[in-house]
Amino acid sequence: MADWIQRIRDIPDFPKPGIVFKDIMPMLADPLANAAAIDALAAPWRDTAIDAVMAIEARGFLLGAPLARELRTGLVAVRKPGKLPGRVIEQRYALEYGEDALQVQADALPPGARVLLVDDVLATGGTLAAARGLADALQADVVGAAVLIELDFLDGRARWSGDAPLRAAWVP
Ligand code: AMP
Repeated sequence: MADWIQRIRDIPDFPKPGIVFKDIMPMLADPLANAAAIDALAAPWRDTAIDAVMAIEARGFLLGAPLARELRTGLVAVRKPGKLPGRVIEQRYALEYGEDALQVQADALPPGARVLLVDDVLATGGTLAAARGLADALQADVVGAAVLIELDFLDGRARWSGDAPLRAAWVP
């Protein structure tokens, strides 16, 4: 198992009972693991033309920003409501109990921009699907999605529609 994977820690019952939280903070804090994780995230995309990484709040930013630098792309933030100034586009999505929403600035990208969506964990896939909805609303060309960790037993991949590849650096 790669050293960076060994620096990811399971925290049982966080943020609520029954959830095993994948804590990437020890990995990020370690100089070698941090770099190796970004290398692993970047590896499938080195030959893909990408204009911008669209990173999902909040841990997605911690991976998306160095990934954008590594792949020499721009960076667009997908944020919780109320964080982005100016005109925004919003996508609501269902949670286990209730609803949440993500926003992107309406002028973040020109139509046709080639984007890669990035997050730390793919669980049920609702977050990534909502971010995909925002990219579609911007008329972006979604070339794929990159996640560090895919919890495949939750089958979030089933909610990733279309032909663009969804690549996980680690499937536990
Ligand atoms: P989902 O929409 O169910 O795919 O959940 C994905 C989002 O929730 C990502 O932004 C993750 O950061 C977070 N998340 C969900 N499950 C976990 C988990 N077990 N450990 C860490 N983060 C998680």
